[in-house]
Amino acid sequence: PSSKVLNFSPGPTNLPAAVESTILRRCFPDPSTKRLGSMALSHRSPEFGAILRNSIALTRRVMEVPPEYEILFTQGGGHGQFAAVPMNLCPNKDAKATYIVSGTWSSRAVIEAEKYCTPTAISSVNEDGATFTSFPSAERIVAEHDPDSKFIYMCSNETVNGIELHRLPVFDDVDNTTVPPLVVDASSDFTSKPISWRKSNVGILFACASKNIGHPGITMVIIRKDLLGQANPFTPGFLNYETNILADNVWNTIPTFNVDVIGIMMEWILDQGGIEAMEENSVAKAELMYGLIEDSNGFYGTPIDKSSEHRSRMNVPFCVAGGDEELTNLFLVECWNRGIVGLRTVTPFKQGIYLRASLYHGVSYEETVVLANFMKEFAARHS
Ligand code: PMP
Repeated sequence: PSSKVLNFSPGPTNLPAAVESTILRRCFPDPSTKRLGSMALSHRSPEFGAILRNSIALTRRVMEVPPEYEILFTQGGGHGQFAAVPMNLCPNKDAKATYIVSGTWSSRAVIEAEKYCTPTAISSVNEDGATFTSFPSAERIVAEHDPDSKFIYMCSNETVNGIELHRLPVFDDVDNTTVPPLVVDASSDFTSKPISWRKSNVGILFACASKNIGHPGITMVIIRKDLLGQANPFTPGFLNYETNILADNVWNTIPTFNVDVIGIMMEWILDQGGIEAMEENSVAKAELMYGLIEDSNGFYGTPIDKSSEHRSRMNVPFCVAGGDEELTNLFLVECWNRGIVGLRTVTPFKQGIYLRASLYHGVSYEETVVLANFMKEFAARHS
């Protein structure tokens, strides 16, 4: 058995090994240094102010966020933003919004939105009325969105369903219609590919941190400034984007340690060669996994067909021997014995048991090779 745990969890999960060592060194200083780490600093101290500004500046650089956008850190996770988005963009419940429903997380978002606005859904649900294996096309969104919508909402990587939009839609290429601003839940693919902020008319992009950029407890929200000032008066202060921006992001006590970690992650991304390198690595890891599934003569299967343009690079759902319970359990036990964990998760697919390999930045290409080699060897023994 390996002494190192290889964590393929859908999140929370590990950060890259080098990032984890930097966190230990920088955020938990030895008492002899007489220096306080970010966990022990007041959120209003000048020292934390410098950490906050650094994390924001590095995020702006890594993601090429244009100056008309503010970068905010909040609490409440993805679910907090499912409520915060309609509360901030819709002054009352009659205000309209269009939701692209393409899987588990966008389905949850529209259910939450119904409390605060009047959403219309454009859904890509399959004929069974339950599973999702694709996204609605940009043409369909242009044709079917409610033109009175305050925003069009979408999730760019459906973590649970294993489908991803590798590029945000660029509406003006499809039709010259001016579509409402796009709100993107990028919780599970943020920093794995570039964002066309202006061309895709992005109004808000948010990401809970616990996959590619940090630990649970912090959520990043990037918001175009012209969208401020229309919040429902009942919006709680800590979820109100304008309130937080006016208070320089310390209206309340933000999770100081988690802000520091995001800065360390962004530094690591830059050291690796930036977003381009992150995307190349994500593509290589995903190709390795999908390739071995395709080459397994049906021993492994995935619900997201080879012809799909939407196979997620971040989350690869797969079944062992058609979802056979006994072999799947044996597979998991053998994984465990090799220190490979995090594959057993909730999946929405019918027929048999599905597992999921999540390939966030914390999983290196070499670690993906370890999983892929084990899978090949297991298939050879049990085919
Ligand atoms: N959106 C996406 C795409 C997610 O993957 C998740 C969490 N797995 C959420 C939203 C929900 O985030 P949270 O649990 O932080 O509320």
